[in-house]
Amino acid sequence: MTSMRVAQVSSPGGKFEIVERELPQPGPGHVRITVEACGICHTDAAFVHDAFPGVGFPLVTGHEVAGRIDALGEGVTGWQAGDRVAVGWFGGHCGHCRPCREGHFIDCANLQVPGWAYPGGFAEAMVAPVSALARIPDELSAAEAAPLGCAGVTTFNALRHSAARPGDLVAVLGLGGLGHLGVQYAAALGLDTVAIARGADKKDLAHKLGARHYIDSTATDVAEALQALGGAKVVLATAASSAAMTATVDGLAHRGELVVIGATPEPLAISPLQLIMGSRTVHGHPSGTSQDVQETMAFTALSGVRPMIETMPLEEAGAAFERMLSGDARFRMVLTTGK
Ligand SMILES: [Zn+2]
Ligand SMILES: [Zn+2]
Repeated sequence: MTSMRVAQVSSPGGKFEIVERELPQPGPGHVRITVEACGICHTDAAFVHDAFPGVGFPLVTGHEVAGRIDALGEGVTGWQAGDRVAVGWFGGHCGHCRPCREGHFIDCANLQVPGWAYPGGFAEAMVAPVSALARIPDELSAAEAAPLGCAGVTTFNALRHSAARPGDLVAVLGLGGLGHLGVQYAAALGLDTVAIARGADKKDLAHKLGARHYIDSTATDVAEALQALGGAKVVLATAASSAAMTATVDGLAHRGELVVIGATPEPLAISPLQLIMGSRTVHGHPSGTSQDVQETMAFTALSGVRPMIETMPLEEAGAAFERMLSGDARFRMVLTTGK
């Protein structure tokens, strides 16, 4: 094979088109991956619409990649052709900026995100640095592994680094691509899990995913409902709604944490008094490194957590992208290449 198909967007806000490109060769410290599956994240829409600095067009986006290594660049050790690997939001770090020197690779000032820093996974093949690679366990198919590189690691890592300990009351705000995983991970981590979403119709799903309690935010005061359950040690805010996040703050227990992962530019409306009384904190959480992705996949395999996905072939990237934007996807759209 000397060429590959990619789904590219030629100009900002443009449509996806399938084109042939020359098969890329991996440089030193890089591998080429045969892409089997790639999830579609909401952030891909921001890249398509040129909302991040330095996005290059024509654009091949995609940062929830799963496949297998098919070629090694010079100097690559520890990885072999045929290894099953995932590449997520964390697509490599520089190693020389201050956060890297402190060991905080996910905060790298020059973080490389696939589909932004280099061509991503809406393709039959891609090249990535070895620092971006995470091993996929046998229990997970490529389509199941793909969403764990962004949606999975973001929710799992946020929960395991939070103040919550087994048995604590933890609420997951939102039941979409991130939230449906957040509820499952919270339950699997032994947390007394509350799902908060809009409408009574999501209640059954919430319980099926492992939530012990469900709060319909359209019918109930969320903060009062959380306090009636004893107050939340952690609220994991996956819904990209600042108003919905704000409405949970008075439902936090003392020393409670609002952990923000739903990306939105809207300001939170929280008063200092709400934080001072009860020593509450609000903090953001980025996804996680490639090692975090690997640990997320390992925990997913052993716990039985699975992303709920809809797959579509790479050729239908445009339709799959529209379905993601419509909010109708249950719950993550994943492109497959048939490789
Ligand atoms: Zn993402
Ligand atoms: Zn760095």
